[in-house]
Amino acid sequence: HLSPEELKGLVRTVPDFPHPGIQFRDITTLIGHHQGMAASVHHLAAAARDAGADKIAGMEARGFIFGAAVAVQLGVGFVPVRKPGKLPIPTIGIDYALEYGTDRLEVDPGAIGAGENVVIVDDLIATGGTALASAELLRRAGAAVTHALFVIDLPDLGGADRLRQAGIAVTSLMAFE
Ligand code: 5GP
Repeated sequence: HLSPEELKGLVRTVPDFPHPGIQFRDITTLIGHHQGMAASVHHLAAAARDAGADKIAGMEARGFIFGAAVAVQLGVGFVPVRKPGKLPIPTIGIDYALEYGTDRLEVDPGAIGAGENVVIVDDLIATGGTALASAELLRRAGAAVTHALFVIDLPDLGGADRLRQAGIAVTSLMAFE
């Protein structure tokens, strides 16, 4: 398996996306590389196994790519944390603050058994707002949420520290300072 350092070399950095001054870390090049995708999933699945995951939850949309593959590798179910209005049944949702405005995430209230250990997977953690809202939503749906896994951490934005303060252990495969 490729090492995390080798995986870092497969991430493409795109300046000024989606706004001037932002360095976007683009995983398209990582997932388009067979060994890059396989090794990313391998390393995340090892961490999810260590965490004792009963289920994996992934956030729309890039969290679906890694989360679903990790769930298959572990042999557990996958819970999609969705953008609003996508699920065809009554959902439970959470509104959370963005830098400008608010956003909303929704899950199927029947997706999680009471007390199931649900491990969060996403491509990247920045401020941690998305992951914290997801953890709160999954907890309201009955989950125990104690671990969150990311391909990429942007430590300068403080998200991993915020999650740890909320009692969630954080694992990431690489960091961009
Ligand atoms: P946060 O809520 O932690 O501030 O932002 C993380 C969310 O925004 C994740 O769902 C992630 O997919 C997305 N995101 C923010 N910045 C980037 C980036 O530079 N690259 C990628 N791939 N996703 C990003």
